[in-house]
Amino acid sequence: MTAVMETLEVRDPATGEIIANLRAASAQECAWAVRGAADAFASWSATPVVERARLLFRYADALERRFEELAVSVSRENGKTIADARAEVRRGIEAVEFACGMPSLMMGDALPNVARGIDSNSVRYPLGVCVGITPFNFPAMIPLWMMPIAIAAGNTFVLKPSPQTPVTADLLHAIAQECKFPQHVFSVVHGGANAVESLIEQPEVQAVSFVGSSTVARIVQQLAVKHHKRVQALGGAKNYLIVMPDAADEQTLSAVMSSAFGGAGQRCLAGSVVVTVGDAGRTFVPMLVDAARGLRLGRGIDADVDMGPVISRQARERIEGYVARAKASGAKVLLDGGDAPRDGSFLRPVIFDGVSAESELATEEIFGPVVAIVHAENLDEAIATANRSRYGNASSIFTRDGGSAREFAQRIAVGMAGINIGVAAPMAFFPFGGVKESIFGDLRCHGKDAVAFYTQQRVVISRWPS
Ligand code: NAD
Repeated sequence: MTAVMETLEVRDPATGEIIANLRAASAQECAWAVRGAADAFASWSATPVVERARLLFRYADALERRFEELAVSVSRENGKTIADARAEVRRGIEAVEFACGMPSLMMGDALPNVARGIDSNSVRYPLGVCVGITPFNFPAMIPLWMMPIAIAAGNTFVLKPSPQTPVTADLLHAIAQECKFPQHVFSVVHGGANAVESLIEQPEVQAVSFVGSSTVARIVQQLAVKHHKRVQALGGAKNYLIVMPDAADEQTLSAVMSSAFGGAGQRCLAGSVVVTVGDAGRTFVPMLVDAARGLRLGRGIDADVDMGPVISRQARERIEGYVARAKASGAKVLLDGGDAPRDGSFLRPVIFDGVSAESELATEEIFGPVVAIVHAENLDEAIATANRSRYGNASSIFTRDGGSAREFAQRIAVGMAGINIGVAAPMAFFPFGGVKESIFGDLRCHGKDAVAFYTQQRVVISRWPS
């Protein structure tokens, strides 16, 4: 019997042209990747942490030198504008820089004389082979949230990137090879659900990091738990932006525009519900519609483009489905996507007004350039609307009033809260992640959470004869 080889066609979302053909790894190849990583673990984990950090300093330098090439790769396979791609690569490099601090980050605690003549200390150890499974929307940044921190801590790492944007992952791997990462300390396998299952089943895998939709996050978490692995699985989102009447101005408009339509609305931090409070609806909504109407669509890589395509024609159809159902249910359309070029997977911004807080539009993750405007009488009602969501990734308030900002920061049920910030993305030294169905597992990505996730602790208690 001959094995059927699965090919992954990577398409430029702006044109639909095939830009790469990659072969999906078979179950056997996934097992080999893990075996290689397990073999490499013995000597890599015994390499002093300062040497591991030194390798990451070299990697950060190399990424910096190849910055533009990485940004072009991201823009080409994902479709986002080159400015967004550059911002993504910058965020990724910041995570590598964070990992370079591992000698301090991994330090343990010590307390002498915890009982008479007894000293105690705790130390952090790496786990072994770690696996990372990443989504299409940040092909450089999300792998860089995981791999550098995992390997700086002494683990070895197998990355399974999105089959829709795997080219940048190969570039990240090639740059690691050039920096002389020891063999199998970091490897990449391609594929979809089958590859994920084959990887997680391997007995040598100790921990699984996942970022993607909530549906798959739940599947991955359950599979990992079944095989007794440590798991962090970051899921989807529905992010509410609350605009107070005192902040319905140009500054807020610019933040809301970039939150809602940056990356064509395909960010887990995208503000897709704008909750206008009191009079803000009357003043802010026309400004938002005007600005969204003016967005220039085009290939992300070209100059003077504000918004690229969504990832695929299939994604466009799914998003158009949400829009059609909302229209059929009588939702009021202020801006109708309409006449986007049909080659590639372009969509123009869509804005619905006066949306019911319980509707599909206001509660489901659409993951495209579609905004639902919900009106609220007061801040209390706005916070209650946001907190009813089954997701809890991010939310922001726009206000000049300290009392409202404080109230929001204390009561909003999300992992990442912004005050006059459109995209409340924590930097690499803080943890990134949400609550409720935006995360499965306990620890978030990067920051101290990631150090805890990629290490285990041992407490040593010692008594010496006096
Ligand atoms: P996805 O869940 O479809 O895919 C993510 C990864 O899971 C891919 O590598 C894919 O190959 C793999 N996969 C798909 N189906 C699988 C299955 N049945 N079993 C095992 N693995 C499977 O997500 P996507 O469409 O690539 O990315 C968009 C989603 O990611 C959105 O929901 C977005 O909110 C979310 N996201 C979340 C964060 C966050 O920090 N919470 C960040 C970025 C993206």
